[in-house]
Amino acid sequence: MSKMSSEDIRKLREEIKEVTSKILELIAYRLKKAEEIGKLKNEIGISYIDHEVEKELRELINKKSLQLGLDTNFTQQLMTLIFKESIKQQMSLTKFTNKTQITHMDIFRKAKELEAEGKKIIHLEVGEPYFGAPREVSEKLSEAAKKGYAFYGEPLGRTELRFAIAECLEKRFSISLKKDEILITPGGRFAVFLAAATTLSPGDEAIIIDPSWPMYKQVTEFLQSRPVIVETRLEDGWIPNIEELERAASHATKLLFINYPNNPTGVTIDRKRLEEILDFAKRRNLYVVSDEVYMDYSFVDFTSILEMGYENAIMLMSFSKNYGMTGYRIGYMVAKREIIERAAKIQALLMTCVPEFIQMAALEALKDRETPKKYCEEIKKRIEVVCQKLDSMNAEYVKPTGGMYVFPRFKFMKRDSSELALKLLEKYGVSIAPGSVFGNYPNYFRISVGIRLDQIVEGIERLNKAINE
Ligand code: PMP
Repeated sequence: MSKMSSEDIRKLREEIKEVTSKILELIAYRLKKAEEIGKLKNEIGISYIDHEVEKELRELINKKSLQLGLDTNFTQQLMTLIFKESIKQQMSLTKFTNKTQITHMDIFRKAKELEAEGKKIIHLEVGEPYFGAPREVSEKLSEAAKKGYAFYGEPLGRTELRFAIAECLEKRFSISLKKDEILITPGGRFAVFLAAATTLSPGDEAIIIDPSWPMYKQVTEFLQSRPVIVETRLEDGWIPNIEELERAASHATKLLFINYPNNPTGVTIDRKRLEEILDFAKRRNLYVVSDEVYMDYSFVDFTSILEMGYENAIMLMSFSKNYGMTGYRIGYMVAKREIIERAAKIQALLMTCVPEFIQMAALEALKDRETPKKYCEEIKKRIEVVCQKLDSMNAEYVKPTGGMYVFPRFKFMKRDSSELALKLLEKYGVSIAPGSVFGNYPNYFRISVGIRLDQIVEGIERLNKAINE
């Protein structure tokens, strides 16, 4: 290297040092301003997070980045970090009232403790059907293991299983699929993780429609991305409003999670609403993760995202609910090839492949189209009974058209549902998920119908007593 060019590099490095320290000074100045705003917000008592203001800023950043020839993805992600830091600083100003929040984890922990002491607990919180896997499936599992289906396998999953899944979906939804558009995963939860990990980068935003299964928020935060919540309401039948989705979307939004039949509300959406949601997603160029693990527990016509021809759709399904195979840990993802390839790489990194004997059991399950129908009938019957019980209890709820839960609100409840859930457990031996698990729904409970009917009825009667005490 010539003397001159090494001198040039030294000079440039000096400049970079100076600019970097200027950037930090500016960030410190910005945070100070945010703190001043925070103090004022605290005095007036308004929320620290103002999505509209953030969106305005993001718009500005987008324009400015384009002018400066900067990658807008990068600048939006950077902005998320700055927003997060400002909010953290503003939050630290809050004088918290000393009311200790009871979380659902406290309730589940307590339930386990009581059981360890030998107390019988009625589990209205469990998200699995107690029926279990069909006998042929469990037999196939051990047979396959004995026959040696127990070596490392393809990261995408066994070809014959992917073919069988493709065939099932093609018949059911009148679509055509390739086997490299399917990835076998260890359950729906893992598929949710893979879908988020392939589409979100730190600083991106994902829209989550509340009330929702907590995993969507958890995985988004785990990936250093930001969940943006759109709340739905019982009064609207828990159906998302497209304008509200529009309002939630910003330049940083990359992903939308949807889940129908829904956990916890049990509602489904019709084709028209799904179309409207996908129109919105298309305008915003979003990936849409459609968690369809309850599709076989739909009491009305079910429309899969796969039928809609949406290019950036990621459909997730599992054998947990429809075949009672929760402990088998097997499910799958359907998406375009690039997404499947990226997801398969992450899966291979984490676990090489899904155990082959479990895949053989899933293949056996697919031959049996009767069990999901039978289980669905059982679930539907239980939901009917729960609804009848709730009708006699002054409860408000939307009657489920699918899923395996009812999500009621009680008008005259004196405490919030987390506190009541704890009391219900300690005094009446019933474990239940309070509404706060699924978002800002402090007056709701989620009743799962996965357990025996007499237990469900007994559990709800005890809930009634606790509410009226
Ligand atoms: N999605 C939703 C909406 C769920 O409720 C659950 C289970 N509670 C899952 C996915 C994951 O199920 P699994 O991992 O057993 O397939």
